Order: sequence, then C-alpha cells, then structure tokens
Amino acid sequence: LKTIIGLDIGGSKTRGILWRNGEVIADRQTGSANVQNVSVDEATENLRQLFQLFPEATVDQVFAGSGGIDTEADAEALAALIRPNLPGVPVTVVHDTRLLLAAGHARTGVAVIAGTGSAAWGVNDEGGQARAGGWGYLLGDEGSGYWFGRQAVRHSLHRMNLNLAPDTLTEALLKACELREPGELIAHFHSGTTRRYWAALSPLVFDAAAAGHRESQQMIEQAGKDLAALAAQVAHQIGVTGPIVLGSGLGMHQPPLQETFKKYLAEDGFSEVRVLDQDPIFGVLDLAAQAVGSVGR
Ligand code: BGC
Repeated sequence: LKTIIGLDIGGSKTRGILWRNGEVIADRQTGSANVQNVSVDEATENLRQLFQLFPEATVDQVFAGSGGIDTEADAEALAALIRPNLPGVPVTVVHDTRLLLAAGHARTGVAVIAGTGSAAWGVNDEGGQARAGGWGYLLGDEGSGYWFGRQAVRHSLHRMNLNLAPDTLTEALLKACELREPGELIAHFHSGTTRRYWAALSPLVFDAAAAGHRESQQMIEQAGKDLAALAAQVAHQIGVTGPIVLGSGLGMHQPPLQETFKKYLAEDGFSEVRVLDQDPIFGVLDLAAQAVGSVGR
C-alpha cells in the first residue's frame, strides 16, 4: 500500500481523495474537469484548485476515472491536464464505468452509470469487454440526470404548444429556473446553461412523480427501461448474468428509478442486480492495485 490520489471526474463535479496505506487523509471536491462538459481552461482550473486543497504529501500515483474517455488519446489528454499538478508522479486515467464496477465490489459484471450522463460497461472473467451508450449528451445519455432535465423542458413546451396551462412539473421547473412562462425555457436552454444545471433539476421530475404526475412517472419508466437495455446489451455481449451494478447520483439516490431498472432487467432474466453502496471513487483503491486497460469501446 502507498500514497494515492484518486479522482472521480463526473459531468457535474470532481471528487478527489488522498489515501495513505488505505486510509483517507483528505477528501475534497471541485467543479467538473471533464472536457466533454467544460472547456479545457475550466477543467485545468478545477484540477488546479482541487490539488491545492490537498495537504502536502509525497504521492506515489494519481488514479483518475472520468467520463468522456473513449480513446487512448482522450485518456492521455486528461492525464496531461492532471500531471502539472504533481510533476513526476505517474497518472493513470480510466473511463468512469471502471471505477463504478470496482466500487461495486466486483471484478467482473456490468456497471451502469446514471449520473449527469449515462453509460454501461462490463467485463467477463476472460477479460472480454463491452460497452453500451456513454456517447455524451449530444448523442445519447438516455436515463441520465441531464436527460430528465431536458425531458421536463420538452414536456412543458409540448403542453404550451397544445395551449394547456402549466401543470405541476412545469410550475416547478419555471420556479427553479426563475422564469415566468414556458416559452422562455427555449432561450434559457440555449443560453449557455450547462449539463450540470439541467441534471441538477432532475429531482423535480421525481418529486412530481411522487405527487402523482403521470408524465413524470412515465419519464422514470422510460429511463429505467433505457438503462436496463444498456445493461442487458453489455451482459449479453460478454455472456455474464451479473452482477449488474447501478450507480452514480441518480442511480444511487432515486429508488423509483432503481425499481424500474430492476423490473426491466428481471423481465430479461437478470436477477443479480444491485445498487452501488459507496461512491464510485472508492473503486480507485482496488483498481490501482490491478493493472487495468484504460479505454474500451
Ligand atoms: C459520457 C460517458 C460517461 C457517462 C457517465 C456520458 O456523458 O459521455 O463517457 O461514462 O456520461 O458519466
């Protein structure tokens, strides 16, 4: 065991932990350093701030899991942003799904992220890998926090087009965005609001669903179904039955989504499905001890 800094770089935040011989010495957080979500300058600045928050220490290795790492070049580009913060220290960058599976106490199986973005990835005991989704918000991210925020906006605009009065979800959305009428949502959406911003509004859909809002309940149903389809695709491709581990912000904290996800997977014959019981960053300790490949498509 040694001194390691682990980073979990999501679409909304970057969490970093400094471990010495497996013990947490410091646990810090800054904004996203995922260049699929923020500019290179912002990512660089957020990383700089994060490393400044750590106490002085001789670090043996930095191990980062991040969204948006789809090629070796992506991994290297992120490593290059991290390195100047600790010159001379080896930096390993992997796709964030790998952190999740390890944090789920599994070496083989399928990891499903439902956070700001979404993705599924799995590995079997021969090392065979497969991936589903995780193409970023412009191409996919079904069932993600951002997807929920955007669906809530689309729902509100659809009702506006039908000349229907704002319903509970629209009222909540307008209030959160500090807007007066649904039509303003269009310009607001395109005015440089971030994925993080819309993902942070996803609880509005869960609140409305809990209060009986039918379309919000349907959104949760759709998200659970889409995430289950990502997981099932990967499981079939690599020939595993489980474990299928659901995690990240939405995945860990929204029971209705967990239930729908499990329901659709059960219909597909998958019963070994569980929700992550610790933050994905804790997968770092296990991964740092193994030699892992960084990217998988
Ligand atoms: C990114 C993926 C990532 C997923 C979950 C997506 O937006 O494109 O690379 O795995 O979010 O963080």
